[in-house]
Amino acid sequence: MQFAATYPLAEIRRIQIYHNTKGYTERDLDKILAETGGSFIFGGPIFLSNLQACCHLKGDGVTYCAPDYQAWGMAWSSDAQDYGCELLPSDKDNHIECVHLIVAGEPVEALHYQTDMGGARPRQAIGSKEGRFAYMVTETAYTPEQLRDVLKAAGWDAAIMLDGGGSVCYRDRSGAGFVCDGDRVIPFYIVVHLAADVSDSDTAGDYVVTAESGLNIRSGPGTEYDKVGGYAYGAVVAIRAVQDGWGQTDKGWVSMAYLEPAEGVQTGVTDNGLSIIQDLIPQGRANRPGGSNPDTYITIHETGNYAKGAGAAAHASWLKSDDAAGKKISYHYTVDDHSIYQHLPDGERGYHAGDGGSGPGNAKSIGIEICVNADGDFAQAKANTAALVRLLMQRHGIPLANVVQHNHWNGKDCPKTIRATAGGWEAFLTLCGEETSQDKDKELEAAVDALAAAGVIDSPDRWKALEYTDASVRALIVKMAAHISTGV
Ligand SMILES: [Zn+2]
Repeated sequence: MQFAATYPLAEIRRIQIYHNTKGYTERDLDKILAETGGSFIFGGPIFLSNLQACCHLKGDGVTYCAPDYQAWGMAWSSDAQDYGCELLPSDKDNHIECVHLIVAGEPVEALHYQTDMGGARPRQAIGSKEGRFAYMVTETAYTPEQLRDVLKAAGWDAAIMLDGGGSVCYRDRSGAGFVCDGDRVIPFYIVVHLAADVSDSDTAGDYVVTAESGLNIRSGPGTEYDKVGGYAYGAVVAIRAVQDGWGQTDKGWVSMAYLEPAEGVQTGVTDNGLSIIQDLIPQGRANRPGGSNPDTYITIHETGNYAKGAGAAAHASWLKSDDAAGKKISYHYTVDDHSIYQHLPDGERGYHAGDGGSGPGNAKSIGIEICVNADGDFAQAKANTAALVRLLMQRHGIPLANVVQHNHWNGKDCPKTIRATAGGWEAFLTLCGEETSQDKDKELEAAVDALAAAGVIDSPDRWKALEYTDASVRALIVKMAAHISTGV
């Protein structure tokens, strides 16, 4: 099967580098299309075994990989109207590089690619033809050179080969498509949003901003209107009306392509594999004050609720109750031994620190409650909380020094169990600063892959499995020294 087409840029609303933080496999492409509102999707650039990008890659202003070289690739701004081939890195919000096949109408004579990208296999490519966006996803097995010649013959004037083989997949909103390896998790997909395809399911209601660099607010429903402000990643936005893919808020208009319905949305996955389940306190409730929160601190609490069953899900439903609203209690996350629930967007204030509506605890920190339910594993709940703290520190640039106890703000004896344990708080902070063993494995795998790609080591699998002898380490040292001195 093969899917290929070209589109005038005017017919394209967005070309999205989709960062697959939810770990969707190729079988889940329908879900990604449904969530993003995209028209069609296919696989992205090559990646390392740790799911990190390894060529120039930027999406919605977030740089995923910035190697120390220049290379030809495709680059475009958020509305894709300036999409074209240029030398990367670019200043535009999006760019992608992999193996350039055709540049400025000229086929590249000697293609640059790693040996394991060669051979005849299914292929996918993006590029341009006479100023139009062009793509091809094909089950036909081509070598990179054959692919170049096929695209040249088709009239492409720029072509970038993406990942091949099992990473080749395609799906559109009619359900047409194919996958080469259904179980494969690809970290980055390309989702194309055609102007004609505006999701019918977009209606008034609460939505979460999914653009990692934030979402522009414009004075009218289209990119031709002026920017009048912005919403942060993860913010919950109340949409009053939808028109041609644009939603109206109390501040202006935003593209629906960067919004997901607020209920049940997962807004991240921790490094120990827990998805964050978003179950927000509805807007307008007395315990959801709104306001802005610069996320300067993280405040750690314990629920103090030792009852059986008093886990994160139970607290999520209680926070939506009249009881919680009446008591004006709210915070951002509850963590137990198996789940994380989010109750407020990070960028909003809560009522958890006891230092007043505009005190720094309530107004500048993200509040996290650790469950102490009798039927839960408290050590695991602390480990899960530490993983969430790591994710939030990374997402908002919060230093470990700004991870504080509830006690810090108003002197309350909270988090009680941790405080009652000698060295308990220091041990918790240490936990927050630790990488998981999974991270360490990934770090080693990435390093081995980098050395294999540079030709320094020959048997990456054995190095990853820690199967090496003194002699192999000695040989590695000698090869590294030669590599450094020759620079090859
Ligand atoms: Zn507390």
